[in-house]
Amino acid sequence: MVSIAIDGPSGAGKSTLSRALAKKLGLLYVDTGAMYRAVGLAALRAGAPTKNADAVESLLPHTEVSLRHLGGAQQVFLNGEDVSKTIRAEEVSMAASDVSAHPAVRAFLLDTQRRLAKENDVIMDGRDIGTVVLPKAELKIFLTATAEDRAQRRYEELLAKGMQADYQKVLEDVKQRDYNDSHRAAAPLKKAEDAVELVTTGNSFEQSLEQLYALILQRLPQLGQGGKDG
Ligand code: C5P
Repeated sequence: MVSIAIDGPSGAGKSTLSRALAKKLGLLYVDTGAMYRAVGLAALRAGAPTKNADAVESLLPHTEVSLRHLGGAQQVFLNGEDVSKTIRAEEVSMAASDVSAHPAVRAFLLDTQRRLAKENDVIMDGRDIGTVVLPKAELKIFLTATAEDRAQRRYEELLAKGMQADYQKVLEDVKQRDYNDSHRAAAPLKKAEDAVELVTTGNSFEQSLEQLYALILQRLPQLGQGGKDG
């Protein structure tokens, strides 16, 4: 099985790029952030303080997070309910960032993530895929961009989905999440030593996609044969 790990801060374009690359290359796309978002949503719904490790951990035995893949699209289920859309709200982003700091939550999701990579050729995106989840991934990519650039993208994404958004608030949230993600003790956001770094600031989506596609085919030429080019 082939695994490609894509890590980086929120809003650098990881998920849209990974999804497009997975389609082009015929790989399964696994968005691990969605799993943390589902746990964050479970905590919000239970009224649990998301920063409190014990409170969140006590919910885990009653929490089931699973992914299904339909025609290339990933759907996220929380206790059997499709929460793929609900987990994209900004309050869930912050809750996900909070709960992802708890080691029990990370351990809870790790098995599912590793099993998906064991059973499928995957392109998996997150914060700790190259460092913790799949340290032996055949290719590791670290995608990044300035906070302003990432906030702008997130803001446009929210508007395009018909959700309400305020740019300043989105920017503050991006900065807060960057801080949380890179300062936590458990699996902090960090570039793996053997990851290739790509800065997407100023790039169009197509430019980043082309750069990544070329990099993948250069490093893993075997993927050029099985994929759905175009
Ligand atoms: O990627 P996304 O923004 O959807 O992730 C939501 C939150 O989940 C992030 O802010 C991050 O704190 C957490 N996360 C993580 N490890 C991953 C993926 C996401 O801690 N592998």
